[in-house]
Amino acid sequence: MSGLDHRIRELLRPEVLALSAYHVPDSKGYIKLDAMENPYAWPEDMVAEWLERLRGAEPNRYPDPACEKLKAALKQANGVPDGAELLLGNGSDEIIQIILMAVAGPEVRVLAPEPTFVMYRQIAASLGLRFVGVPLREDDFGLDTDAMLAAIHEHKPAVVFLAYPNNPTGNLFDAVAIERILASAPGLVVVDEAYAPYADASFMSKIPEFGHLLVMRTLSKLGLAGLRLGFLAGGKDWIDQLDKIRLPYNINVLTRISAEFALEKQTVFDGQVRCLLRDRQWLAEALAKLDAIRVYDSHANFILIKLLRHEAPRIFQELKAAGILVKNLHPAGGPLAHCLRITVGTPEENQRFIEDLERLLRYV
Ligand code: PMP
Repeated sequence: MSGLDHRIRELLRPEVLALSAYHVPDSKGYIKLDAMENPYAWPEDMVAEWLERLRGAEPNRYPDPACEKLKAALKQANGVPDGAELLLGNGSDEIIQIILMAVAGPEVRVLAPEPTFVMYRQIAASLGLRFVGVPLREDDFGLDTDAMLAAIHEHKPAVVFLAYPNNPTGNLFDAVAIERILASAPGLVVVDEAYAPYADASFMSKIPEFGHLLVMRTLSKLGLAGLRLGFLAGGKDWIDQLDKIRLPYNINVLTRISAEFALEKQTVFDGQVRCLLRDRQWLAEALAKLDAIRVYDSHANFILIKLLRHEAPRIFQELKAAGILVKNLHPAGGPLAHCLRITVGTPEENQRFIEDLERLLRYV
């Protein structure tokens, strides 16, 4: 950092200088099992219909800032309770940023159990907020309820983030523990349901019961990661305030039209999700048959494993050399030492991965 131009060092906030950029590896040519994408392309006739719909787009005009039709379709498809409103984001990443910008201040704290989705910490840091990470139980990555309640009492966080299911661990936290957190949190509680299509649990219906509960979802994991569309559901008063911070044209015209179209084709995505749930089961069983691996229960479209006798970074590199990209969580350390996260792919991709992993565990 000392080699930086003095203007950079003097002008930029120290928290920005201290950040490391979110690294996305080049994945061209790899079997991509690293980013929780849905691996299935759209059927040809659906692509043709979509392109026809896009013909109506007017790229010379600013996009619709309100997206009321899209919001109505999202509410319907996601069981958003009557009376709750939506805030749309350029991915749910942007929504995390909007929430944290709205509460930012020098003494403000943000709390989440860890390990969890890294952007809560990263965005809090970029805004100069203090992030409090409360360790999950080491044995099963469940919430340590007493530690969470004690930390909430001590730090009085403006926002608590709970990824439900959690990334990168894949488990669903205990719903009763979340209700206790809701009962004691003095600020907002954001339940991040990014993996909702693959889970059989949700806090969406609880919004009317808890005025400070916001439920965040995304279309990314369902199969629209390239569109960048996330949303936040909550009481109108909260959403109206947060909406003031949203940049007026954050949902571009291609995303709006494409998402409206995709929501009309829910049955196609439901079919893909059914395949991925079946294949998650296949992958978990195939992994469990391998030696010296701990396979964690998953309610999402990925599976966390811990290598008990091998070096995860080495296996990660060898898989990469064999053309398969997974997520190496070893650098995060602590309970994620020697862990890899594998996104559920197509049956052929899963099979290739298992064959290569089995070979590597035997010889490397
Ligand atoms: N929340 C969780 C728990 C995630 O794992 C992710 C992406 N990995 C996101 C939010 C962000 O998703 P997006 O910005 O694509 O909507």
